[in-house]
Amino acid sequence: MSAVIEVTTVDPGLLADIQRFGAADVSACFSCGNCSAICPLSNNDGTFPRRMIRYGQVGLRDELLGSKELWACYHCGLCSESCPQRADPGEYMAAARRYAIASYDRTGLARALYVHPAVGSGVLVALAAAFATFFTLMSGAEPRHSLRLFSFLPDSVVHWTGIAVMIAVVLVALAGVSTMVHGLARHEGVHGRDLVVGAASWRRAWRGAWSAVAVESLGQKRFRDDCADADPAEHWYEKRWIVHATVMWGFIGLLVATMLDYGLSLTGVRATGTPEPVWYPVRLLGTVAGLAMVAGVTTMIVSRLRRSNQASTFSHQSDWVFLTLLWVVGVSGLLTELALYLPGAPSWGYWMFVAHVSLAMELLVLVPFMKFAHVIYRPVALFFQSLANTKA
Ligand code: SF4
Ligand code: SF4
Repeated sequence: MSAVIEVTTVDPGLLADIQRFGAADVSACFSCGNCSAICPLSNNDGTFPRRMIRYGQVGLRDELLGSKELWACYHCGLCSESCPQRADPGEYMAAARRYAIASYDRTGLARALYVHPAVGSGVLVALAAAFATFFTLMSGAEPRHSLRLFSFLPDSVVHWTGIAVMIAVVLVALAGVSTMVHGLARHEGVHGRDLVVGAASWRRAWRGAWSAVAVESLGQKRFRDDCADADPAEHWYEKRWIVHATVMWGFIGLLVATMLDYGLSLTGVRATGTPEPVWYPVRLLGTVAGLAMVAGVTTMIVSRLRRSNQASTFSHQSDWVFLTLLWVVGVSGLLTELALYLPGAPSWGYWMFVAHVSLAMELLVLVPFMKFAHVIYRPVALFFQSLANTKA
């Protein structure tokens, strides 16, 4: 009979490394448990978020990266307010998630963006300049009499560039998800066959996926229900879950409008770039979604500038980069649309369009490397969370 020996690797530099991704210093934490007692998402065993802190303190890197709970936190900040050691556990969780994004990414770009601001800024500027140069070179003469964006910059150039970017992003994201799933499955003791062998396994996997994607990620159930009391916002439109939902649904609306526009041109129903009144359904969807996203991102930026809640007391430079990029993409899209409807169709609309497309491509490229990556990793962690709940 042979015994299986579990090897635990300890990384003595783990906590110092996580601190490079954020402002928290949990070295002073003496595990009093206040944060676990007050966290609205803590379960009955009372170890969340304290266990995540302990992993960092003792250097259990694999355990930290394999913890689904890391992604359960919505950074309400209640734990930070209650911590007698001022260790800021809420910010520690945020820093640990940035660290996890950088660890799942095999290219090293995420780490460079997070911990080397000068390198990160250089990459961001170079990427935007490369896209802008490419699209400018691909643009043609300005058609007169009306603003015909896709006569200026051919829709085939935009579409094929977008498809190439999407393929690259999906490949990088899949590599990151596979690293994450490997760690989660090992930590949680989940085997692939548990999810695919037998009808009961399939039902369990389906329920897990539904709960992770529809109920929690798109419906924000726990953010909306469990974290609401921790939100000090006076007005409903300042509530963090509402602002987050506005940005998320605005972004999804823009994606759907873009895909519908492309689908209609592919099926020959309507050529891309055909002039339409603003109430044309696809145009209207894009306009409303763009306005919602810009309104939500503006509220987030103002909240961070005012430090109006515990979660926005500290802003990592990556938070500013992400919010600024999202805001500029939204506003440049709305300004391009405005130019279409202004009398005389001003020609600056063409250059606004080039700027919008360039920055939107940059935003897409950066999805797996920045804060945006939580749209990929959080649902995966929530899927494992749902599996654990089902097992119980
Ligand atoms: S409240 Fe502070 S000191 Fe107490 S366990 Fe949490 S982080 Fe540590
Ligand atoms: S920030 Fe809020 S949700 Fe996250 S661990 Fe602290 S109390 Fe819990």
